[in-house]
Amino acid sequence: MVQGTVNWNIKLDKEWLQEYVDDWVAFYRKATKEGNVASYIPILAKANPNHLGIAIHGKNGLKICSGDIDIPFTIQSISKVISFMVACMKNGVSYVLDRVDVEPTGEAFNSIMHLEMKSLNKPFNPFVNAGALTVTSMLNGATSSDKLAPLFNLLERMIGYRPSVNQEVFKSEDETSARNRAIGYYLLETGFLESDLEVTLETYFKQCSIEITVDDLARIGLILANDGQDPNNEEEIIPRQIARITKALMLTCGMYDASGKFATYVGIPAKSGVSGGIVAVAPPRVRNAPFPFIEGCGIGVYGPALEDRGNSIAGMKLLKHIASQWDLSIF
Ligand code: GLN
Repeated sequence: MVQGTVNWNIKLDKEWLQEYVDDWVAFYRKATKEGNVASYIPILAKANPNHLGIAIHGKNGLKICSGDIDIPFTIQSISKVISFMVACMKNGVSYVLDRVDVEPTGEAFNSIMHLEMKSLNKPFNPFVNAGALTVTSMLNGATSSDKLAPLFNLLERMIGYRPSVNQEVFKSEDETSARNRAIGYYLLETGFLESDLEVTLETYFKQCSIEITVDDLARIGLILANDGQDPNNEEEIIPRQIARITKALMLTCGMYDASGKFATYVGIPAKSGVSGGIVAVAPPRVRNAPFPFIEGCGIGVYGPALEDRGNSIAGMKLLKHIASQWDLSIF
């Protein structure tokens, strides 16, 4: 069933879609064996590599969830999407983009090499660590809790509850932070940090340690698919221009040095994190065939076994399959 083309003219009811997604999750769960859980943050190595879960939220209230959907995990680099949007909402887009560029790096998310090699004008983009630390330093406030408050406020508006920081993960990140500290010191020396280095690092580690679920990611994805508006009441949660720029950055830089391949073979904006989460955004499509979620959807995936770039290996394959079967690509 996983191979071949599906005739969507049959029926697009929930039970039917549920059965498909259940089958796909069971099929792609095998791919978790091809990856490894992140271990450079020691606590993340405790995740179960066989886990795979997905939540898909549509604009009309349709939700399909399958697999390991009740496992909370830390948001990690997906928090860079939230801090970027908050920084843009508080400081204005041009203020932020004057200080952080919008170009993919072609290097790993925590690369130090490219900072010096390409005569740094400004960090490449807000989704690699150098850019994300710079963005976090722009958040208002003298302490990490002051800086995190607007992130929590925005998350609460999007997912319907206030998430919390997993203290064990925060501690583990903080204790093994040599590389992020090296990037931080480099940014300090080159004049990019807008607040105290220690406060910036603490805020960054805490924002990465916010605990969420695949349902929360699907909801965030759906709001972005809906250009920043709450799909239930059309209320603006994120200004349209900021939602649009964020999606462009997710498409070009969201999956690190696998972003080009993901854009080519999956074709939707997405952002991953090293704990195995991916948030993906399928905007509304204009198609003649009655594909599922034609009005757009948000997708949250969790699969902690990663490929070598730091993206969920089974999660990426599952997204690729769904995107091709349901014609989700924006191209
Ligand atoms: N906290 C992680 C780090 O900075 C986030 C990286 C990621 O999710 N790719 O190393």
